[in-house]
Amino acid sequence: MKTIAQIAAELQGYDPQALRADDVNAFLHHLVEPVRATEELPLFSALGRVLARDVVSPVSVPPHDNSAMDGYAFAGAQLVPGQPLTLRVVGTALAGKAWAGTVGAGECVKIMTGAIMPAGLDTVVPQEFTTAAAEGHVTIAPDVLRPGDNRRFKGEDLMEGGVALAQGALLTPAALGLVASLGLPTVTVFRRLRVAYFSTGDEILSLGEPPCEGAVYDSNRYTVFGLLTRLGVEVVDLGVVRDEPAQLEAAFRAAAGRADAIITSGGVSVGEADHTRTMMKQLGDVAFWRIAMRPGRPMAVGRIAGVPSQAKSASSVDTASANSYQNDSNRTPGGAVLFGLPGNPVAVMVTFLAFVRPALLRMMGCSHPAPPLLRATCTEALRKKPGRTEYQRGWVTTAADGTLQVRTTGNQGSGVLSSMVQANGLIVLHHGQGNVAAGDGVDVMMFDGMI
Ligand code: AMP
Ligand code: MG
Repeated sequence: MKTIAQIAAELQGYDPQALRADDVNAFLHHLVEPVRATEELPLFSALGRVLARDVVSPVSVPPHDNSAMDGYAFAGAQLVPGQPLTLRVVGTALAGKAWAGTVGAGECVKIMTGAIMPAGLDTVVPQEFTTAAAEGHVTIAPDVLRPGDNRRFKGEDLMEGGVALAQGALLTPAALGLVASLGLPTVTVFRRLRVAYFSTGDEILSLGEPPCEGAVYDSNRYTVFGLLTRLGVEVVDLGVVRDEPAQLEAAFRAAAGRADAIITSGGVSVGEADHTRTMMKQLGDVAFWRIAMRPGRPMAVGRIAGVPSQAKSASSVDTASANSYQNDSNRTPGGAVLFGLPGNPVAVMVTFLAFVRPALLRMMGCSHPAPPLLRATCTEALRKKPGRTEYQRGWVTTAADGTLQVRTTGNQGSGVLSSMVQANGLIVLHHGQGNVAAGDGVDVMMFDGMI
């Protein structure tokens, strides 16, 4: 378990006041660790969970060579280029049964899709390439297939004893089907990650409160709830917390005592007059960043201790000992990981997608956290300053020629959620990149399946 100072010392060129977006992920990779506890779940309860152990195939799938088509099985060596082949039908192989007879030269077996290939036969001609010949015979048209066609091999999906799915795999619908195809009713998965979140700020109204001048309704808790729920973690909602030290301390303590990670929004920018930053410093080992990005910029990360003891001064924080209370192997050691996000609603979503999501996936034990970037043609010119990463809300479509194209979705202000709602992805304009001309290629991070 490394402290913030140790991680910072190991990262080349680390500057908390001008951090590159790419360096944030590298930092978080060192800060967070996968959960340890595991549980065995029936397959129907395991969707979206992460495998804690390799699934080793107890059988071969398929278990026998079998036919990929309804047709006639025969020995393919009898095919002669340019010539039809007439064969006598000596039996029928049905799916799920072995046909026990023997098949000689000039003979074939009528076969159904999935039926075991009769011994010595290697080729299946689909029904539609044959014509009925004399009574009990079929003729195969010339040059319609090659020896070996339409035979599925034993174990071509999975071989007995092989790793069917590796630890760290996310259990997608396809993965559930794969495990089921092995006849395994349960899987061993990492326990669910638990994430607590709250919003901070005196100007933030909870839903149900009457509107008042200068105040805004809390939207961040709802987007964060949605993002976390889509990720499959257990959520702990701690509401809106007033800018008052005792309330903030109680919220951080409650969050750290109950969850693996804490997500807050607001109160992390330098000019803030509120107590959020102070309390984060006091209760944990926390770095305050200015990230070279837009939207976003201010962010706090670290670990918060949840022990219900007296508040410690910032100078005496010793993360390792402060968290000895968390000896329970079911808990993340070292306290809860803090993601102190900026307050602006779009900045919350962007920093979540760019940084928090990959970090949480790592905590969930998932081995492939980074979402792939796609390349699309930008249909409009975009202004961009080199020296920061920009995330613009985009609408990605497939052009008539089949390539991807993207346009922005209106007002890109960091508080404007309507353009976020209209977007299906983020255009990622990288750190060194400058202006984009209409027709240039840009990278996009799709929301599909994420938000
Ligand atoms: P802050 O980072 O606290 O300075 O907040 C930046 C901006 O985001 C301010 O305009 C806040 O009013 C707004 N904001 C902060 N928290 C929330 C929230 N939970 N819901 C909606 N807007 C928020
Ligand atoms: Mg604020």
